[in-house]
Amino acid sequence: TTETNITDQQVFDLIGAEKKRQLEGIELIASENLVSEQVMKAMGTVLTNKYAEGLPGKRYYGGCEVVDQIEQLAIDRAKELFGATWANVQPHSGAQANAAAFLAMLNPGDKILGFDLSHGGHLTHGSTVNFSGKIYQPSFYGVEKETGLIDWDKVEQTAVKEQPKLIICGASAYSRDWDYARLRAIADKIGALLLADVSHPAGLIAKGLLNDPLEHCHVVTTTTHKTLRGPRGGLIMMRNDFENPYGIKTPKGKTRMMSSLLDSGVFPGTQGGPLEHVIAAKAIAFGEALSDGFQTYIEQVRKNAVAMADAFVKKGYNIISGGTDNHLMLIDLRSKDLTGKIAENTLIKADITINKNMVPFDDKSPFVTSGMRIGTPAVTSRGLVEADMAKIVDLIDTVLMNHENESKIAEVKQEVNNWMNQYPLFTWGE
Ligand code: PLP
Repeated sequence: TTETNITDQQVFDLIGAEKKRQLEGIELIASENLVSEQVMKAMGTVLTNKYAEGLPGKRYYGGCEVVDQIEQLAIDRAKELFGATWANVQPHSGAQANAAAFLAMLNPGDKILGFDLSHGGHLTHGSTVNFSGKIYQPSFYGVEKETGLIDWDKVEQTAVKEQPKLIICGASAYSRDWDYARLRAIADKIGALLLADVSHPAGLIAKGLLNDPLEHCHVVTTTTHKTLRGPRGGLIMMRNDFENPYGIKTPKGKTRMMSSLLDSGVFPGTQGGPLEHVIAAKAIAFGEALSDGFQTYIEQVRKNAVAMADAFVKKGYNIISGGTDNHLMLIDLRSKDLTGKIAENTLIKADITINKNMVPFDDKSPFVTSGMRIGTPAVTSRGLVEADMAKIVDLIDTVLMNHENESKIAEVKQEVNNWMNQYPLFTWGE
């Protein structure tokens, strides 16, 4: 860096190395994206100096007049973007958003029903290694072996059998859309609450490319840094269900509206002071996502995912469920005699970043896995289009089919670096 007031060269040299890595590589991790320059700038501002426990207009600290306006902007823009009538923009991450929502809606020991981690679900939906599986009693639904799809009748059977107090839908590695209306009918049938965690497809949902969870789910949580292309963080929203239908009580024994329970679930329930520098960046990202430019972007994300899935299928790769409705796909590498571990470790040598992933009914451990998960949000932010997806698949296939051939892999790496150097890291607000 050339900035004179920066003296910790050791750390800034490492940040520079990471920037080079991001610039020169092909980023295909489905949960990652590249924020705009203005989102990035907001995070490195004096807002990080400020304590602001509480909510805009109702803080436990003085001097919050400015951050109140910033947080209110973020709330208003989130509501407009998703057609929500209530939003809390304070969760530090997606896991924090879920922790806060669960704390608001459940008591320790309550039953929850989520999508199986090994079928594409998330740790926070009831995994035994996570708070959600330790504090609550989890059960799971999954996909069908033959189709790779969720069978809603089977979800209903499991829900009726298990009688959870909360049903969680949403996933980290499911490439198809969700039937929120059906899930709400199931929840109502057994007297459960329904929470959608749309962390992955949030950007596609915001722009109407997928079913609308807010119309049917009591509560919707999301991260802000995946397809939504904001800073790392979480968000909780509601549209219709303020009524607290099952009379959940506060620790002091009072019955409150759901919105109030959820606000308390974030603070003081699971967090202290909000990160106002990140909330400012969320406000900017939501503003960007409201624009027509983001509509074009997110449509391209999906077109690229479909083009990439087609290219993989043409090369004989086995995509779980046969294709994608969103920004990602899960590929079973067993038909290619490869593991997820080999794929991840070999592709990184060519500066192509993917992650190994369990596939449904996997016979390998989570450290090895039979699959790889691939997504298009980041490469689309770089400016790549459908034709480029076929080229990426060619490069991936060349590396995987030559995974013991170091000179071939080095050739691909050179091609990747030369190619990606032509695309900027920041595509917005420059
Ligand atoms: N929920 C889902 C569905 C996710 O995919 C993720 C992240 O991968 C999270 C929650 C957790 O988000 P974070 O990493 O911000 O805590």
